[in-house]
Amino acid sequence: MTSVPTVTGTVESAELGRVLVHEHVFVVNEEYRQNFQGDWDEEGKIADAVRDLNELKGLGIDTILDPTVLGLGRYIPRIQKIAAQTDLNIVVATGVYTYNEIPFQFHYSGPGLLFDVPEPMTELFVKDLTEGIADTGVRAGFLKCAIEEQGMTPGVERVMRAVAQAHVRTGAPITVHTNPHTRSGLEAQRVLREEGVDLTKVVIGHSGDTTDLDYLAELADAGSLLGMDRFGLDVLLPFEDRVRTVVDLVERGYAEKIVVAHDASCFIDWFDPEAKRQVVPKWNFRHISEDVLPALRDGGVSDDDIETMLVANPRRYFER
Ligand SMILES: [Zn+2]
Repeated sequence: MTSVPTVTGTVESAELGRVLVHEHVFVVNEEYRQNFQGDWDEEGKIADAVRDLNELKGLGIDTILDPTVLGLGRYIPRIQKIAAQTDLNIVVATGVYTYNEIPFQFHYSGPGLLFDVPEPMTELFVKDLTEGIADTGVRAGFLKCAIEEQGMTPGVERVMRAVAQAHVRTGAPITVHTNPHTRSGLEAQRVLREEGVDLTKVVIGHSGDTTDLDYLAELADAGSLLGMDRFGLDVLLPFEDRVRTVVDLVERGYAEKIVVAHDASCFIDWFDPEAKRQVVPKWNFRHISEDVLPALRDGGVSDDDIETMLVANPRRYFER
């Protein structure tokens, strides 16, 4: 067993229960909020989040992994207020979310740069994982980076190598935002492997956006977990295709390589909330419990396989 840091304290890996591996509480850019969201209702937003997360707990989910890192608006004090009002475990992350450029905070500082210092991102990630985030007392439980259709740009590669080095130093698992249509999960595996990462400790995120079983099998055969983690984002891939792909993978013997989630959020400032509800009405925390699991069972996925995806695989991901 391994101790996993949650927002409210440490939980043993065996006690994580049913886990959704990729959900956001808040995706809120603080600079944008302070300048352009004059109607922001802090207490109302927190109350709505508590309601949504308690509802999720009531649907049988015990833990969410929240990969909201720098670039997505991580702000732990707000998450702490919410976590104190729900029995759902929330595990937060460290890392950088970019599809291309490195944030300016790191642009000129690093190995071989104007200010020639050890990779500052690695140092910050390790501090978040081992000591805690800022002065909150909350430790990050995993690492996050991204590679999108722009590919392995210099900024993306630098973040990914910093994430990999923090994993090597701490053993913390990794999730990578990938774009399966450009097969970028394979690019991520290549760089992570070069840095000595244990690929069984890597979720290839957003793998569920494709039905390309050969690509998915290649990722899984290299050891990684497949993040079938955007249930409800049916504009990117319809519900039936997402379900069918999981059923096909299970039939091919890959149940131990599948983890699930919605990539939903209590609040995200990328979209108008009402427009979001109209375009993707199922993109909420209830969808997997209410619609996806019954559809998987109808497709022939056993209860044992579902428990493997929800409980055993996330547990093994954290165990050293
Ligand atoms: Zn996400």
